[in-house]
Amino acid sequence: MPKTIKKLAVLTSGGDSPGMNAAIRSVVRTCAYHKIECVGVYRGYEGLIDGDFKEMDARSVKGIINKGGTILKTARSKEFRTKEGRQKAFDSLIKANIDGLVVVGGDGSFTGALIFNQEFGFPVMGIPGTIDNDIVGTSHTLGFDTALNTVVDAIDKIRDTASSHNRLFFIEVMGRDVGHIALNAGIAGGAEEILIPEEDLGLDRLVDSLNRSKKSGKTSSIVIVAEGDKIGKNIFQLKDYIDENMEGYDVRVSVLGHMQRGGSPSCFDRVLASRMGVKAVESMLEGKTNYMVGLISGKMELTPLDNAIKGKSKINLELLRVSDIMST
Ligand code: ATP
Repeated sequence: MPKTIKKLAVLTSGGDSPGMNAAIRSVVRTCAYHKIECVGVYRGYEGLIDGDFKEMDARSVKGIINKGGTILKTARSKEFRTKEGRQKAFDSLIKANIDGLVVVGGDGSFTGALIFNQEFGFPVMGIPGTIDNDIVGTSHTLGFDTALNTVVDAIDKIRDTASSHNRLFFIEVMGRDVGHIALNAGIAGGAEEILIPEEDLGLDRLVDSLNRSKKSGKTSSIVIVAEGDKIGKNIFQLKDYIDENMEGYDVRVSVLGHMQRGGSPSCFDRVLASRMGVKAVESMLEGKTNYMVGLISGKMELTPLDNAIKGKSKINLELLRVSDIMST
């Protein structure tokens, strides 16, 4: 029989994403609803090691559903990667009479949670919080939708200036290993080309495509480049290459950077965070551990953390085709 849960802890770890606060709020309020105690852990696994805890009740999380970032702060903890660090974290949890841990973060945070569970048998549950949408077991990670809206808004603004000056803009968006942000925001922003890590478009095809759109009468163009695209040149080298190999365009670069992580979460992310928090707490109360909550076909489902970590999220091939057709 699993131990009855009377007190849960929640932490945010890894890169922050919009919607983390809404998830904290949901975890805390679901605990209050079920009349169990809840503790917020500051600075991710660093705070777990140091015992940096704060008792939270339903009122502690008022006014945060619309706020970006995370009130609990986040961190990347080297010490938690060591057995000694994890032992300290376990000791802190036991000292505070905590029975289970909800981790809001990305695949690195889940790997840490799983190792922690395997070593100490401590119940853990994951909520996927990252703008990259690179986790298997959910169609949407927390923050992805908000980041997309931020990027599309930026593309729209850049397009205004691009079309006024007949410019070609390369816009770099986040996505070292996956092109979900680039592909979705590129389609929504009407980009002429989208360069993603999953496929190598090749420089020649890029030049051909830009030449084609120029011949078809376009006087300005937007190319979305994911950070990890495989074309072999960084975005500034790309600009130089196009400058040298294409005439008639004034080429500019815009790197959107960390603004993509910030901002008030979208309606979609707030609802998703609220659902995920409820599912995470109630699943732990049912004695479940080592799972991640996620959205699959519109429903809240559990995926074993192991599968979520090892699986590789795939790009939607239909979207790739749509993007090709739209850039005709
Ligand atoms: P993002 O996707 O935004 O980068 P993430 O959760 O993947 O988020 P990471 O920096 O990879 O971010 O991981 C967060 C923390 O999880 C690390 O700082 C570390 O403390 C812990 N962690 C990651 N991998 C391991 C591991 N193999 N063993 C123990 N702890 C780990």
